[in-house]
Amino acid sequence: MAGGIYSEETCPVCGSKMRDNHKGERGAVACPDHPMVHAHRIYVKFGRKHKKRFTSYRMAFKWLNHLRTEKDEREEKFDIEDYGFQKPKSFATLAPKYLERKKGLKSYGKICHDINKAAEHFGAMNMREISGGMLDDYLYGLKCDDGSSMSDKTRANHCSRLHDFWKWCLARGDVLTLAEFPTFPHIEYELAYRKIITWEVQEQVLAKVKEMTWEKNPKIWFGCDLLATYTALRPDDLRRLNENSMDDAGWLTIYNPTKKKNKFKYIRLHEDHVGHWKSLQKLFPALPEIPFFRHHGRVRGTTKTGIIFGENVFYLAWQKACEAMNLKGVPLYPGTKHTTASETAKLMGSDRAKNASGLSNKAFERYCQVENSDAFEVVSEIRKKKGEVVLLGGHRGTTVSGGVSNDNASKR
Ligand SMILES: [Zn+2]
Repeated sequence: MAGGIYSEETCPVCGSKMRDNHKGERGAVACPDHPMVHAHRIYVKFGRKHKKRFTSYRMAFKWLNHLRTEKDEREEKFDIEDYGFQKPKSFATLAPKYLERKKGLKSYGKICHDINKAAEHFGAMNMREISGGMLDDYLYGLKCDDGSSMSDKTRANHCSRLHDFWKWCLARGDVLTLAEFPTFPHIEYELAYRKIITWEVQEQVLAKVKEMTWEKNPKIWFGCDLLATYTALRPDDLRRLNENSMDDAGWLTIYNPTKKKNKFKYIRLHEDHVGHWKSLQKLFPALPEIPFFRHHGRVRGTTKTGIIFGENVFYLAWQKACEAMNLKGVPLYPGTKHTTASETAKLMGSDRAKNASGLSNKAFERYCQVENSDAFEVVSEIRKKKGEVVLLGGHRGTTVSGGVSNDNASKR
């Protein structure tokens, strides 16, 4: 039989090496010649790699039996290292190592959240002991952190992050074999279609934003208007713009735009916007490196003057305008970018709209909720509509046509 219980102590009477008396659970490591003399510091040794110390023979005996049973049952899959103090191939041990490698990724926070949540569940379990069934049970038992039920989209994301973790473990070579790789559940989900509004309603919200924020800081409206016009812009891109970000030809250069590290994004501004940019610079002069979108304390003596806009400035302004109009369920992003992408597609065909939006195909299909129609057939409509829409800022829609998610939108 593999393994045994030993002690380094010698008999204080005769100096002999103490030995296991093999009397079962009630046995002891004792002197062969003085059976009443027992060792107090004992250990279980199992092969050359495993040594675990005990002060109670009973506990040592149980542990040794456990190892022997495991070896019997797992046969060639048995690896004594899995039973060491470190449990090097357990979920809980590998997870922090994995997360260490993922630092610096934009999605690090989400990866951390999901992997740590799973680590709480699987804990010291050996990776190869975790079956597809266990993963299925775990994933479908998940709830959101606030206790509400989890959407299948979120569940699928969680599943895919775990799958990445397993792939990393597989690539390490000594954690599990391909044959031991569990079958991950396939989680079906449908992307929810975003609520979008028409260009007319979008213009109404923008006008409301203007009305509500112009006195405080005209750049709030200007930023929202840029977002509603240039679908490749993200709210966070605006925060990266400095006073010197626009060149003489009206091109904006955005350094390190959101999601693409160490890259530039160029946006060509419509001449109306070039004019707005310049007049705002005259109104609020500043050095070239100062963030363009910053607070100007014109109202209520705010102390924030000169400080770059927080992440939520545009979002909150848009939301307040929508509330004032009793328009629900259309936050800044769907209301600006996605609405514009969708409306552009109606006018110019979805290929051109997609190229302008910088969205991936799948994302674009979600946001673009119109059938692709031959651009030429709607050209005359485009001319008319486009003509109205590019009258930025001053234009207010007069009709509320289809696609409005809330009937009250017209009764503001
Ligand atoms: Zn002795």
